Amino acid sequence: GDFSSLGLSDWLINQCKQLGINKPTPVQENCMPPILEGRDCMGCAKTGSGKTAAFVLPVLQKLSEEPYGIFCLVLTPTRELAYQIAEQFRVLGKPLGLRDCIIVGGMDMVTQAMELSNQPHVVVATPGRLADHIRSSNTFSMSRIQFLILDEADRLLEQGCTDFTKDLEVILGILPAKRQTLLFSATLTDTLQELKSIAMNKPFFWES
Ligand code: AMP
Repeated sequence: GDFSSLGLSDWLINQCKQLGINKPTPVQENCMPPILEGRDCMGCAKTGSGKTAAFVLPVLQKLSEEPYGIFCLVLTPTRELAYQIAEQFRVLGKPLGLRDCIIVGGMDMVTQAMELSNQPHVVVATPGRLADHIRSSNTFSMSRIQFLILDEADRLLEQGCTDFTKDLEVILGILPAKRQTLLFSATLTDTLQELKSIAMNKPFFWES
């Protein structure tokens, strides 16, 4: 298959071509159609499999159709991953004038709070720092979010299970129930079942 048979728009296919992304990888080929159809999706995919583009491309396509408020929230375990994900959104979403915001530990809270209240399209965050912002301020809204992405979910859970669960509860508490939730993980372990049951709605499931 190619990207157009998966349902991707021409402007995004052109954007991909410029980056040498010509042929979908297995995680993209399998997960993008259900994501574009509006389903939750749980995909088993490691770094290097093209999993970031597997969610960035459908989110950008939907964003181009109906931009409103903060559109997509990505939770990822590390600062480095947050920067890589934001970079893919920036590069692929350039024709949309995409505005993103990175919320990770070790950076200034006040600057981050200003960025959050500035209505970015995409927020890429580590859970602990985002939960700190939600607990300490109410100057931003995520009530219109369309996509929640749990990236490297197995590693999110490793970060210290109890804290993550608390942080996730705080974060889920300000998200609308009606949204699409996408989960990617290198391994689909039993502990992910709980995450699935609290955050997801009958996901499409893909494992290579
Ligand atoms: P990831 O698995 O998301 O960490 O992506 C690994 C790298 O593969 C990134 O640099 C992407 O830009 C690149 N990539 C993603 N999808 C494709 C594709 N279909 N063809 C070639 N490269 C890709």
